[in-house]
Amino acid sequence: LSRQLTAAISKLNAKGGVDEDAVKSVVLDVQRALIDADVNTALVAKLGKEIKGKAMAAVEDEEASGPAVARFVEKAVASSLVSMLTPARKPRKLVRGRSNVVMFVGLQGAGKTTTVAKFAHYYKNRRFKVAMVCADTFRAGAFDQLRQNASKLRVPFYGSHAETDPVRIAREGVAAFRKDKFDLIIVDTSGRHRQETELFREMEAVHSAVEPDDVVFVMDSTIGQAAEAQARAFSESVEVGSVVITKLDGHAKGGGALSAVTATGAPVIFTGSGEHFADLDPFEPAEFVGKLLGKGDLSGIIRAMRETVDEGEQLAMLRRITKGHFTMRDLYEQLTQIGKLGPLSKVMASMPGPIAQAFAGMPEGGGQDKFKRMLVIMDSMTDAEMDMPFADLMAAEPRLRRVARGSGAPMAEVYQLMAMAKQFSGILGKFGKMGLMNGGDKKLATKLKRDPESLRRQLSAA
Ligand code: GDP
Ligand code: MG
Repeated sequence: LSRQLTAAISKLNAKGGVDEDAVKSVVLDVQRALIDADVNTALVAKLGKEIKGKAMAAVEDEEASGPAVARFVEKAVASSLVSMLTPARKPRKLVRGRSNVVMFVGLQGAGKTTTVAKFAHYYKNRRFKVAMVCADTFRAGAFDQLRQNASKLRVPFYGSHAETDPVRIAREGVAAFRKDKFDLIIVDTSGRHRQETELFREMEAVHSAVEPDDVVFVMDSTIGQAAEAQARAFSESVEVGSVVITKLDGHAKGGGALSAVTATGAPVIFTGSGEHFADLDPFEPAEFVGKLLGKGDLSGIIRAMRETVDEGEQLAMLRRITKGHFTMRDLYEQLTQIGKLGPLSKVMASMPGPIAQAFAGMPEGGGQDKFKRMLVIMDSMTDAEMDMPFADLMAAEPRLRRVARGSGAPMAEVYQLMAMAKQFSGILGKFGKMGLMNGGDKKLATKLKRDPESLRRQLSAA
């Protein structure tokens, strides 16, 4: 950016480029990203308020600039999510030398039996003496599934093909393994397709029969917004002590983990990332949030902030244009800015104001390549050419020929660039005539400060 332009932007940034409206629109972006990541909508609303409060405090700081506030918002989002994922209740620490009984609950298909095996594997590797009890008499095949896992893991197993009473199996199995001084006795239970009375009654009965040290609620991460209701239903029936979120290796976004934690008040201890015994990862809130935000496209936040800033730039440029100062350097700066935002098609769709309009005139499918070639052509211009009034450059045929030779572009493309620049400055000039600029710098700055959104709307509508 030319020094003038930079100064104008930083002035706008510091004074008014970022204000309550800008923060509001950024928080909206954040909220959209979180809902996309399956975070519970009520939580998202609560988070939004929290983040807005924190960000406004940052804005009120005189030094706050757009990018600084953007970074601040990003941090506020992350820290709020991490603290939501870190409930007061600490994960239960299992110690060897006593019989820890851990009961697994969850809907059918959530991944209980698979997780039981992974859990056994994990603690066996940590020299726990592990045993498993199959209290799922509901689903045909449950017994064989657990028995197979047990034999692969070389872990003793208690269950029966014939017995139909899960409570009896659980009681007998746990009693036997306690007697043999196993360090970890894992009780797998049955699920149902839905949260039904039957299931919860059975769960409570098994619970009082074995008196577990911990109840692990296993939740499928692919259920999206249903997570909240499911987690609540389970924790109302038995006291859930920990949570395992499964199937995070697929397309699930993982936002359900937040719902599970807030609904149960219990910490996530592991996540499941596959069907193998080793696909069980100890849960780290900060790491998880990083991934969650990555998937939720946090770059949107930054983009929103940039757009606010860009508007300031565009308006500063308007001032120059109305004074007849539009140059190739202005165009170059604008184009590189756009280039930084990401894939051209996506950027064009979301771009407010004159730049999008200038590009709207470009040939269909002209896209990224064309865009790069334009920059290459400008790269072979001299400083004098970059800084001379655009109209003068357009009239200087010999200069344009030299530029074409220097950049290896056909003359036609150089003319195309000129046409684009003309269109660009023409569109900008129109805004000048619309009177946006007439009030002078101070008025403009105040207007931007008061309502940047309205300005953006005006620019996009024109
Ligand atoms: P249960 O009914 O709750 O005992 O669920 P299962 O343990 O039988 O698991 C149901 C299905 O989910 C099985 O096909 C498992 O292989 C699969 N599964 C469980 N956990 C994971 C996981 O973390 N990732 C993937 N990809 N599949 C999983
Ligand atoms: Mg099962």
